[in-house]
Amino acid sequence: MNTVPSRLECEEVVVRLWPHLDGTLPETERERVIAHLQECAGCRSHYDFARAFLVAVDRAGREGSEFAALRERVNRAVAASRR
Ligand SMILES: [Zn+2]
Repeated sequence: MNTVPSRLECEEVVVRLWPHLDGTLPETERERVIAHLQECAGCRSHYDFARAFLVAVDRAGREGSEFAALRERVNRAVAASRR
């Protein structure tokens, strides 16, 4: 007898990782994704990568704006020293 419950396949989990991280995945699907991640190392590494990627993008965005502000300050200092 083949009574495999309706578990998500790896492919189904992978396509749901980004919506899951964005928080746009419906509650019922999120639970199934989380359950799958707990027992599938392959999908968990996908998940860790996706999450690390989002953190890196977020951090790069912030550092970019700090850099722009610093550059602005340097430009003003240079302009002031030329007067
Ligand atoms: Zn999997």
